[in-house]
Amino acid sequence: MSNNPKRYSCKQCGDPFDAYPPDDYYTYAMIKKCFVCDALGLGKHVERNYECNGCDTKNTVYWYYDHEHTRIEIINAQSKRRSIGYIIDKFKTK
Ligand SMILES: [Zn+2]
Ligand SMILES: [Zn+2]
Repeated sequence: MSNNPKRYSCKQCGDPFDAYPPDDYYTYAMIKKCFVCDALGLGKHVERNYECNGCDTKNTVYWYYDHEHTRIEIINAQSKRRSIGYIIDKFKTK
């Protein structure tokens, strides 16, 4: 395992910044939350904010440990997301 930083671009101004992993465990960086973990409430991540040197924008990086989901988990997450979308659509039409 390494502590090599991941290089990202600031979402605001595009300046590069280095995101260092919080520890040796959470080394898998994502710019968005893993939708399966999010939908199923698994919460296997650490959020870190990195301030851009150029414009002071806070860029959020989600650190996960290298994990995989089973097909069942992915299907469950997709159907959960669909039902959430359905509830929101229903609400809007009122
Ligand atoms: Zn910036
Ligand atoms: Zn996940």
